[in-house]
Amino acid sequence: MIVQAQDAGHPAGGVWTLAEQFEGKLKGVSFELLARGRKLADTLGTRLVSVLIGDGVKEEDLMALIRRGADAVYAVQGPGLKYFVCETYEFVLTRLIREYKPSILLAAATSTGRTLMPYAAIKNHTGLTADCTELDIEEGTGNLLQTRPAIGGNIMATIKTPNHRPQMATVRPKSSRPLPEDPKRTGEIRLIPVPPLPSGGTLVRGYSRDEAGSLGLEEADLVIAGGRGLKKGENFTLIRDLAHSLGAAVGASRDAVDRGWISYPHQIGLSGKTISPKVYIGIGISGAIQHLAGIKTSETIVSINSDPDATLHKIADLAIVGDAFQVIPELRKRLDERKGKTDAEHL
Ligand SMILES: Cc1cc2nc3c(=O)[nH]c(=O)nc-3n(C[C@H](O)[C@H](O)[C@H](O)COP(=O)(O)OP(=O)(O)OC[C@H]3O[C@@H](n4cnc5c(N)ncnc54)[C@H](O)[C@@H]3O)c2cc1C
Repeated sequence: MIVQAQDAGHPAGGVWTLAEQFEGKLKGVSFELLARGRKLADTLGTRLVSVLIGDGVKEEDLMALIRRGADAVYAVQGPGLKYFVCETYEFVLTRLIREYKPSILLAAATSTGRTLMPYAAIKNHTGLTADCTELDIEEGTGNLLQTRPAIGGNIMATIKTPNHRPQMATVRPKSSRPLPEDPKRTGEIRLIPVPPLPSGGTLVRGYSRDEAGSLGLEEADLVIAGGRGLKKGENFTLIRDLAHSLGAAVGASRDAVDRGWISYPHQIGLSGKTISPKVYIGIGISGAIQHLAGIKTSETIVSINSDPDATLHKIADLAIVGDAFQVIPELRKRLDERKGKTDAEHL
């Protein structure tokens, strides 16, 4: 059912998840969040609403949010909202919060979520727990239990926001799987007019592209990551070239990032990104617990390391004990041979 905002009443409360779009296409994290939100809404016996601020997302795509778990979609779309600008998005989000009074608001810990949510939390005089790994409902009170690693990952802390609403949290992308699409699910698509947007003001940060999204690390099926075993920054070209030839995204250990060999958005692990590709290949990476935290949901893990006792080898599905500077060129040679054969077969 599609309704204009002024045509319908609106039950207060409920669980909200923030959908994300880029140039009119919904991002995968929008569906991952719905899986988290569905569980919470069912426990509370309340509605799950997916909120979309953006431009150009078609109604049939909004329906996909319903088919993957939302009871309703609240969409505010217009040219002024095409790209994420923190102040503008916060202005729209806060108006929605004040009008509809959600009990819980979840966003993904993407560049957008990490920028928007703290700003919106302050404007709404409420708390925010970033990078939650677990979310649950406290029996008796109905409060949101927001669990995340603390003190360098040594303990898991559970945080509550008992006195303020909404209870706000971000969740790492790829830390939950979207629910299967249910073509029979129906729900409400509420088209909310864009309010007069503020002009001027201090732009906290605007992206014409989501930096994280543009790298594709969290969405990639194949990730090739390099670590300190590459010895120096110039050698990272080996990783980039290999990734390029295979259509893979480039990742890195924190050590490689700290040394300035590659930028932070490529970092995988506890203080970087969580990835869940079909295949992860770690080259010259020892497998420290903080790095493993970011790769453990990969379907297949491949390790290339000269040390036969490397921790990454122990958890890998395929462990190649060897010098990266010999293994990578050999791998490329064999891939080129295979590509040559395939090209010849197609002639
Ligand atoms: C609070 C906190 C948060 C952290 N967050 C993260 C995070 O998000 N991500 C992260 O990655 N780390 C994180 N770390 C750091 C982490 O503990 C490790 O220090 C880091 O992962 C090590 O990076 P590395 O594997 O590249 O280097 P090393 O541990 O030094 O491993 C290098 C590996 O390369 C191998 N090698 C050497 N030469 C070759 C060769 N020629 N060919 C093949 N292999 C070779 C070695 O055998 C070794 O196993 C965090 C640490 C803390 C305390």
